[in-house]
Amino acid sequence: MNSANNGRNVGVGHRHGGGTVKAFIQKVQSHQPSLKESLNGEIQAFLTDEDQLHTYDDLTKVNPVTPTTVLQCLQARYSVKVFYTHAGCTLVALNPFQPIPDLYTLDVMKEYHSAPQPQEFKPHIFIVAEEAYRNVKGQLEPVNQSLVVSGESGAGKTWTSRCLMKYYATVAASSSVMKSQDTVERIERRVLDSNPIMEAFGNACTLRNNNSSRFGKYIQLQLDRGQLLVGASVQTYLLEKTRVACQPANERNFHIFYQMMKGATVEQRREWKMNHGQRFAWLPHSEKTLEEDCFHETVRAMVHLGINADRQRQIFRVLAGILQLGNLSFSSAVDETQPCNLEEPTKDFLQKAAELLRVPPVELQMCLRVRTLKAGKQSVLKPCSQAECSMRRDCLAKVIYAQLFEWLVMFINNSICADESTWCNFIGVLDVYGFECFYTNNLEQLCINYANEKLQQHFVAHYLRAQQEEYVTEGLQWSFIKYQDNQSCLDLIEGSPISVFSLLNEESRLNRTSDARTLRLRLEKELHDNSNISWDKFSKEPHFTVSHYAGKVNYQLQGMVEKNKDPVPPELIKLLQKSEDPLLRQVFTDKETESPNSKGLNKVTVVSKFKNSLESLMKILHTTTPHYTRCIKPNPDCKPLTFKKEEVIMQLEACGIVETIHISAAGFPIRILYKNFLQRYGLISRHINSKFRFHHVDAEVDGNVILQQEVEKLLRAALQHKVFDPLHKLESEKHNSWVHCGRTKVFLTQLMLDLLENQRKKIM
Ligand code: ADP
Ligand code: MG
Repeated sequence: MNSANNGRNVGVGHRHGGGTVKAFIQKVQSHQPSLKESLNGEIQAFLTDEDQLHTYDDLTKVNPVTPTTVLQCLQARYSVKVFYTHAGCTLVALNPFQPIPDLYTLDVMKEYHSAPQPQEFKPHIFIVAEEAYRNVKGQLEPVNQSLVVSGESGAGKTWTSRCLMKYYATVAASSSVMKSQDTVERIERRVLDSNPIMEAFGNACTLRNNNSSRFGKYIQLQLDRGQLLVGASVQTYLLEKTRVACQPANERNFHIFYQMMKGATVEQRREWKMNHGQRFAWLPHSEKTLEEDCFHETVRAMVHLGINADRQRQIFRVLAGILQLGNLSFSSAVDETQPCNLEEPTKDFLQKAAELLRVPPVELQMCLRVRTLKAGKQSVLKPCSQAECSMRRDCLAKVIYAQLFEWLVMFINNSICADESTWCNFIGVLDVYGFECFYTNNLEQLCINYANEKLQQHFVAHYLRAQQEEYVTEGLQWSFIKYQDNQSCLDLIEGSPISVFSLLNEESRLNRTSDARTLRLRLEKELHDNSNISWDKFSKEPHFTVSHYAGKVNYQLQGMVEKNKDPVPPELIKLLQKSEDPLLRQVFTDKETESPNSKGLNKVTVVSKFKNSLESLMKILHTTTPHYTRCIKPNPDCKPLTFKKEEVIMQLEACGIVETIHISAAGFPIRILYKNFLQRYGLISRHINSKFRFHHVDAEVDGNVILQQEVEKLLRAALQHKVFDPLHKLESEKHNSWVHCGRTKVFLTQLMLDLLENQRKKIM
């Protein structure tokens, strides 16, 4: 998929390697001046002209390829409003943070779709889309495709995924669309309409993105034999349900609540028991006006997907009930034998919540304030402390919201999924949260970073395959590539029998209150052999540090086991199962009411569930041809035309672009056409032996064999004459660990290039 070379660039790629990614960047940066020094005027022929940087469509063609030059190239392109750049088999997408008219129009889609060679067009997400689409046909048999979109929050993943879906809804729409509104058109619209619904319920305004997805998503677009879009199915991952009851400072709850507040009719307000101007504890920053607060749009999409008016009323009533729960507060108990009371002014909210959730108010109150303990066959009632009451209130809201979200996803799937007999291939679009490293990190970040670690492993395996292909074309043996894979980090997190996950699960399944310090000691005792885990000696908090491929992350152990257990008091589930609301009753019918006391070595935990769903995703990905798009956020303030180098380099590092360079460096990253090689280094051999002359051959293709012989002669002579000081001890046959001759190019290590350059400088 590399774009055509644009002349100035004669095919040398420098990539560096060694050590961790961080150390590697430092090495590259500190190494650069000396490299530059050693390169006098002429080698500029191999290097990218800075003025021309913006014209480079593929980062692997910038010379040399270092994090610095890659960054310069992206910046140069950004400044001339070019947002897409290839990076070998990956597409880098910079977020413009402003609408770019004309970039995504129907005409542009058609242009890329109908081009004989879309790769020759300017880099665009539509190239990736089109390539995947054409790949489905396959040469021998059809191959399913996956489009993996990654990047940090606000980088443009969801935007890109939507863009891809629109592309397929357009180019893969059947020609009968226009004629028969009822059949095919409906399915494309439905597939697209699943977006506003899932975004209303699963996205929120955060510090990093006004429309941040708080769940991961994999959508499979189903194609029939004629490659037309006939349906889709969605799988979601790890909804951040805690947000319902607890919004981080300066962030908001899920959009849907604000949409309801702003878009309700008088009648709806009455039904939802929402007085005008009423404040809800769980709706901070409702004064903010966002584009995303469009209730009308959500309802329209719901109607389109077949969620009827009755169902809609049930959904919104339940959501209104949740908001009322948020306003409940409890006073502390007089003594331990007495349950806490509801604060007087909030009693009204309890009444309203019970009415909206259609459960008896007395029972609702009882469930929130009193715990039922099972002692053998007997039940013992125990009053809850003030903190416990609040926890139960939050838990009730979270479990309702999570079940509702799950139900919606299931409904959407039923509405858009094609009959199995009608589709035969799919293109999957994966929009998952990128690598996260905050000031404090807990179970959520561990899961997210684990997912990224898995995807990185998948990417590396795929990337190496691509590298291998280039070596094979050039007639090089592959086995000399050694690279650092991230298996040991994955073993640390998810391996068996002992890993962070296994210990965490064990702790969560034991019937005891767990203590972060005990877990910390166990982790150290059992896992100290793995070099990917460490501990900061000076930290007072129980924690552990994992060296991920994208950097080190400190995870707090406080509260991690509890989060992993994610316990729901059985009384709450039983209460909801008794609700007179048909939707609530339905979504809770099959929900198990596990007693908190129940043991069970196979008890489902957050981690075990996530690991399973990720494993099935990876299984699917492995059967597909992947295409990677790395979204980059050019600045943290979401401002147009602002490119912050430090931010971008960190993301390049975290999304594996730098890692990709690193992997390339494990092989022979510098590739120079024979002719260019001889032009530049021929003088070394002449210097060694004045009789040594190389023939000047102009015909590049036909002359390759002769050129190759010349180059080999040069290298042999140089080695024999011990021209390269550090290589003195090397026997000449071992030189192939420094250099390889392919069909048209010389493949070199960075060190070999440096040696050649130094030698050349000495002679000149
Ligand atoms: P992520 O899903 O990675 O967190 P989003 O896809 O929600 O990020 O993007 C954040 C915001 O950036 C979007 O709401 C949109 O305003 C802007 N954006 C992203 N990609 C583009 C683009 N290609 N053109 C214009 N604006 C974009
Ligand atoms: Mg998103």
